[in-house]
Amino acid sequence: MSQTPVETSCLCGAVKITASEINPRFTVCHCDSCRTWGGAPYFAVQCGTAVVMTGEENVTTYDSSTWARRGFCAKCGTHLFYQVKETGDYNMPVGLFPALEGLEMDMQYFSDQRPGYYCFSNKTKEMTRAEIMAFFASKM
Ligand SMILES: [Zn+2]
Ligand SMILES: [Zn+2]
Repeated sequence: MSQTPVETSCLCGAVKITASEINPRFTVCHCDSCRTWGGAPYFAVQCGTAVVMTGEENVTTYDSSTWARRGFCAKCGTHLFYQVKETGDYNMPVGLFPALEGLEMDMQYFSDQRPGYYCFSNKTKEMTRAEIMAFFASKM
């Protein structure tokens, strides 16, 4: 867990982000929703709730499910976060924080929705949709 605040911004600079608790062991999500949103699997670092944004009036959010919303810069389209509504936890694109120390692909979510036209050689943990649903159901 990186405890040093890391600053970044979207492509156009209208939104500036400071994240103070970034886990560099990032996750990849292959679900249909992530791949439709970004055109590819979603590479994300978990940032908890210790995230400060300036230029927030330029952030548009979209409720992509009953439990999460996605945020992006309305001016340049840069994807900024996937946020769990109940906890407020942010999952932010790895590409916003390319210089983090210890970046390592740790988990692939929705491995059963990964299409056949790509695969990663990284050795990671994987969870299927059924495993994810069972895991989160057990936490409620
Ligand atoms: Zn922007
Ligand atoms: Zn996803």
